[in-house]
Amino acid sequence: MSRAVRICLLPGDGIGPEITDEAVKVLLALGERHGVVFDLHEALLGGAAIDQTGSALPDRTLAEARAADAVLLAAIGGPAWDTTDPDRPRPEQGLLGLRKELGLFANLRPVRIFAPLADASTLRPDVIDGVDMLIVRELTGGLYFGERAREREVADAGGPGRAGMRAYDTCVYDEFEIERIARTAFEAARGRRRLVHSVDKANVLETSRLWREVVHAVAADYPDVALVDMLVDNAAMQLVRRPAQFDVMVTENMFGDILSDEASMLTGSLGMLASASLGEGTALYEPSHGSAPDIAGRGVANPLAMLLSVELMLRMSLDMDAAADDLSAAIAETLGAGFRTADIAADDTPPELLMGTAEMGDQVVARL
Ligand code: NAD
Repeated sequence: MSRAVRICLLPGDGIGPEITDEAVKVLLALGERHGVVFDLHEALLGGAAIDQTGSALPDRTLAEARAADAVLLAAIGGPAWDTTDPDRPRPEQGLLGLRKELGLFANLRPVRIFAPLADASTLRPDVIDGVDMLIVRELTGGLYFGERAREREVADAGGPGRAGMRAYDTCVYDEFEIERIARTAFEAARGRRRLVHSVDKANVLETSRLWREVVHAVAADYPDVALVDMLVDNAAMQLVRRPAQFDVMVTENMFGDILSDEASMLTGSLGMLASASLGEGTALYEPSHGSAPDIAGRGVANPLAMLLSVELMLRMSLDMDAAADDLSAAIAETLGAGFRTADIAADDTPPELLMGTAEMGDQVVARL
C-alpha cells in the first residue's frame, strides 16, 4: 500500500509559482517511483495573500502549515508590496510570522559545489574543490531578539561635554537554546562526515563562553562526532581559504547570518542554494533566493534551488533518503549533460543547452 505524505505548498510571489510547478512535477515522479502519494495542499503567503485576503499570513495558511508533514515555500515579496507605511501589511510578515508560529529555531543551509558549475565561483576551482558543508544557524535568539533602544541627550555621547544619542542591542542566550541547536548540528553530522565546527567569539563574549560550555556538554553525547571550536573571525577567513575542511558548522544567529551568506557565494550562484528551517513541529523548506521580480513571468528562472529544497525535505522530514538520492543524482546528471538556465550559463553555453524553467524541470524528471 502507498504511504501518504501531506505537503503544504506555498508558491508565494514573483518566480515562486513558476518554480513551484517544477517541484510538483518532481514530487509526482518520485511518488510514483517510491510508492508515496503526495497530498499537496496549496495556500497563500506573502504578497499574493495580501492581495486576496489583506493579510500576509492568513489563518488558513497557518492551519495548512501546521497540519502538514512539511512545508515547501518558493519565495515571497516584490515591488508591488514595498511600502514604508507601518500600517500596511508587508510580504515578509508572512514568512517571519510562519517561522515564529512553527517555532523554527534552526536554519540549515547546505553548500555543495556541483563540479560542472565550478567556474561560476569567484574562487579558484582548486580552492572550492570538494566543498560539501552544512551551516546550522540559530534562528530565534541572540542579538536580533535581545532588548534594544535608542537614548537621546546622553551626557558626553556627542563628544566630551556634549550630550548626544546612544543606541544599544543586547545579545542573550539561554542554555536550552544553545543545547537544542547543538543537538541539531550533531544529529546532522551523524548523517554526514561526523565533524562539527562550533563557531563563537569566546575570547570576548560571555554568550560565546556559555555557548562553548554547552556545546561541549552536548558533544559528550556524540562521541562518534569530532568537535572543533573556531573563533568567528578565523571562520570567516577559513571559509575562503580552505572551505573543504568544513562538514557541519554550527553558530549563533548573527554570526550565522553573515557566515551563511559568505559560504553561499562559494557556489557563485543563488539559483543553486536550498535551506531548511527546523523546530519542534513542522519544518519549512525553501530556496535561499528571493522572488526575482526582474525575471518573473518569463519562464527563465532556475528551478534547481527549489528542487534541492525538495531533496532536503525528503531527507530531513519525510524519511525518504532513497528518493532524495535519486533527485540529487538527477540534478547532478542534468548539469553534467551541460543543461543550464541563463543564471548559471557560461558565455560559451550552446543555445541548444540553454533551458527555461519548465525545460530544466523536464530534464531532471527525465533522469528520475
Ligand atoms: P532575489 O534573490 O529575488 O534576486 C536577486 C537576483 O538573483 C536577481 O537578479 C534575480 O533575477 C536573481 N535570481 C534569484 N533567484 C533566481 C533564480 N531562481 N533563477 C535565476 N535568477 C535568480 O533578491 P532581491 O532582488 O533582493 O529581492 C527580490 C524580492 O524577493 C524582494 O521583495 C525581497 O524582499 C524578496 N526576498 C524574499 C525572500 C524569501 O522569500 N525568502 C528572500 C530574499 C528576498
